[in-house]
Amino acid sequence: MKRPESFEKLLSILRTLPSVGPKMSERMAFRILRMPENEIREFINVLQAAHREVRPCQICGHWDDSSPCQVCRDPDRDRAVLCVVENSQDVQAVSRIKDFHGLYHVLGGALSPLEGIGPQDLQIASLLKRLRDENITEVILALNSDIEGETTAQYLIKQIALIPKDIKITRPAQGLPAGGELEYMDELTLSRAFGGRREFDRN
Ligand SMILES: [Zn+2]
Repeated sequence: MKRPESFEKLLSILRTLPSVGPKMSERMAFRILRMPENEIREFINVLQAAHREVRPCQICGHWDDSSPCQVCRDPDRDRAVLCVVENSQDVQAVSRIKDFHGLYHVLGGALSPLEGIGPQDLQIASLLKRLRDENITEVILALNSDIEGETTAQYLIKQIALIPKDIKITRPAQGLPAGGELEYMDELTLSRAFGGRREFDRN
């Protein structure tokens, strides 16, 4: 049986969201359809406000309602240490580590030749510029421990080595579960991994 066109449109827009397949999109659509008028209005307002107000920071790429973001503006941050992460969600995860007070740089994903994501698709040029211009002495590559994260780390190590400055490159200690995504890691695992981070040998 044919479904109403407006319903089909709702399903197809929901399916553009990450991890939403046909079944999930139907469950979400019916939940939306059952919302009372005041609730759907609130839902739309919240979506619009978040979309309007939350933007990537012009310096680090973290999504916040101000640019520069709250981290970049914080005068108590250690500006010599820069933590490179794949996504803004990872900034939230790392910010739970109590002994990390450095700055961040959000790449906006990871290199993936298979999906056609190259260095120009990520915030890599802006990262290298920060490393050249700012007084950063340590870069922590806190990337996911999957193939894409590893490919990205190897690429960054090569690029950073070309900068004629003494910049220490470190990576969180092993102990991050293989294939693990940073954003889902508990505070203790992350704290241990950061506390035991080791320097990458450039040679
Ligand atoms: Zn920022």
